[in-house]
Amino acid sequence: AAPHNPAETELTVNAPEQMRELGRRLAKLLRAGDLVMLSGELGAGKTTLTRGLGEGLAVRGAVTSPTFVIARVHPALGDGPPLVHVDAYRLGGGLDEMDDLDLDVSLSDSVIVVEWGDGKVEGLTDDRLRIAIHRTVGDTTDEVRHVTLTGIGERWAAVDLGVLTA
Ligand code: ADP
Ligand code: MG
Repeated sequence: AAPHNPAETELTVNAPEQMRELGRRLAKLLRAGDLVMLSGELGAGKTTLTRGLGEGLAVRGAVTSPTFVIARVHPALGDGPPLVHVDAYRLGGGLDEMDDLDLDVSLSDSVIVVEWGDGKVEGLTDDRLRIAIHRTVGDTTDEVRHVTLTGIGERWAAVDLGVLTA
């Protein structure tokens, strides 16, 4: 049967710590080879979510906003996959293969999370989890964020992202 895809899951996040918690829970659904694309304006919470992902994946080093590098590899402390955290904001062209990043890991062995990757990293794989984070329009002080997760491709067809709303 044709996979019911893309399936969208929406949830509301009320505070930074809750965004981290979402990342920790999302990490349990991820495995080596997965690509997660994060979109949302500056300060939306992309890096905060990635920080939680890093905690959930139990990788080395705190996830921060990469200022001078485009990509940072966080090796797993245990047997899990490393987290490759990419900030594609300053990435000139698109990314067609991981070799373009000149890292010592391959996509198939890693979980790769890309901030600002729209239109740049789709060439890496047909499957991806797209996460859009929005603030309430016109509201700059509130901590409420609206998160939309969309699983794209075979990989995500059978994954119930709804477990994240529970
Ligand atoms: P981005 O990577 O999208 O630019 P960051 O995660 O670096 O965003 O920063 C988000 C900022 O917004 C942090 O200072 C964080 O404390 C704050 N914030 C407030 N509410 C939230 C929320 N619900 N989720 C995530 N971050 C929030
Ligand atoms: Mg960021």
